[in-house]
Amino acid sequence: MTDSDSWNFAPRSRADTIAALTTETWDLVVIGGGATGLGTAMDAASRGYRTLLLEGRDFAKATSSRSTKLIHGGVRYLRQGNLSLVRESLRERELLLALAPKLVRPLEFVIPATSWLGTAFYATGLKAYDFLAGSIPGRRSRMLGSEAISQRFPTLKFDHYAGGGVAYHDAQFDDARLAIAILKVAIAHGAFALNDFPVTSILKDSGRISGVVARDEDTSREYQIRAKSVINATGIFTDSIREMDDCQAKPILRQSQGAHIVVDRAHFPAHSAVIVPETDDGRVLFFIPWHDKVLIGTTDVPVDGPELEPRPGDAEVDYLLDYSHRYLATPLERSEIRSSWAGLRPLVSTGDSRSTSKISRDHHLEVSDSGLITIAGGKWTTFRTMGEDAVNRAISVGGLAPKPCCSDTVSFPVSELDSAAAWDEFPQSVVWKCVHEEFARTVEDVLARRSRVLFLDAKRAIKLAPQVAQTMAPLLEKSSDWIEAQISEFTKLAQRFLPAE
Ligand SMILES: Cc1cc2nc3c(=O)[nH]c(=O)nc-3n(C[C@H](O)[C@H](O)[C@H](O)COP(=O)(O)OP(=O)(O)OC[C@H]3O[C@@H](n4cnc5c(N)ncnc54)[C@H](O)[C@@H]3O)c2cc1C
Repeated sequence: MTDSDSWNFAPRSRADTIAALTTETWDLVVIGGGATGLGTAMDAASRGYRTLLLEGRDFAKATSSRSTKLIHGGVRYLRQGNLSLVRESLRERELLLALAPKLVRPLEFVIPATSWLGTAFYATGLKAYDFLAGSIPGRRSRMLGSEAISQRFPTLKFDHYAGGGVAYHDAQFDDARLAIAILKVAIAHGAFALNDFPVTSILKDSGRISGVVARDEDTSREYQIRAKSVINATGIFTDSIREMDDCQAKPILRQSQGAHIVVDRAHFPAHSAVIVPETDDGRVLFFIPWHDKVLIGTTDVPVDGPELEPRPGDAEVDYLLDYSHRYLATPLERSEIRSSWAGLRPLVSTGDSRSTSKISRDHHLEVSDSGLITIAGGKWTTFRTMGEDAVNRAISVGGLAPKPCCSDTVSFPVSELDSAAAWDEFPQSVVWKCVHEEFARTVEDVLARRSRVLFLDAKRAIKLAPQVAQTMAPLLEKSSDWIEAQISEFTKLAQRFLPAE
């Protein structure tokens, strides 16, 4: 695959994929279809290994559709002194900008400062960021005067940039769209993949892992699937798979919730992003143009356990509104929030740090006594290197014939659904594509992740749901009962994306 425009993607059917499940021993079974599992499947398939990816609900359904949508080194990690993570992330940023230019785009960020001294302080820090990135021409940081900042951000309150500010570059992407693109790359290289297919238990021969049992959610039928290596890439659900392997396994995951609100661009009519460098609770906060809206986030609230559909708490929404009031000239009312959503960070906690914001974002790789490989933590930005590390380990653990990694040279398909957020009607041809080329199985899959309407404007998504359900039903051979059930389920879900007034 060399030319991204020559992609003509016709994946095998669900029935054909299911028929192949038990006919062979897979080199790798990857559990979980978020950024980490998809990166692992793409790496394995592009090396030529027989690869099967099993996702319990939908690709990128959990954390991987709820990020701040940055492919970035992370200025925060620079401040924390984690130079190796920043360097690795910046390398991946440059690689993804080159491999997937339609999906990952450069974005200018500005750190405003209240005083000249503040600007000098941030400028010095960002020189280190430039240095770690390799001082790329066109992407070096530079100081801006207050005039330049007011031109870029006409609605930003002057007090915050009275001392000017510093501009630097990182990259922005659409997480769920990139997830589908990675899936397509993996399948184009021979991977098999199924959504709505959770792993329910682990198979062992003489104490060694030999495969998994997984359930088809359509039929409730379970399949025993043999594999030379099994990779647990289930993000916030990591410990549930580790417990299937070893009921004595001690949990390693902690979850912290991050919430975002989305409002109209009129509140922030800018093409660059603003980063609030230090909030009262010692974090950073972003105002980012995203599609035809503005994304404001995020928070960091420790939570007790994994949850597939987390919801921002009232206090989180208040916190984000409070920062909007502090920074934006036009007052932002709760009723103007188009969508609000939260994701849970899969944080691997090996120490006793109480603050989840201080837990390292490095990824964690471990192999259990039976040979289950677990890969967790990390960032969206580093999904490819996480996949590479997991497959390298699978080669030794599963006794696979060694083959070199080539995921840094694959080509990505273009993303075609960019304008969906503004549609009054959802074109039938796009629904067809979502179903036949992108594995959409529910109205939610189409409106939340194949297009991003739910994340951009929940009320618009509710309006589009009946039309999407009616178009999907014949494509999936579903009845009118299915249409009714889908509309009702989706409406219930979408209401959770609207904050309580
Ligand atoms: C608020 C927030 C903002 C973030 N912003 C950024 C950012 O801007 N940039 C960045 O680089 N990173 C960011 N991150 C981090 C990044 O989003 C995550 O590190 C990444 O998405 C984790 O992906 P994952 O595949 O490990 O987990 P997930 O995306 O959670 O995927 C795990 C998958 O496993 C599936 N699964 C669970 N159990 C089973 C089972 N039994 N069988 C089969 N499948 C199963 C789940 O359904 C799920 O789809 C952010 C995270 C949060 C929470």
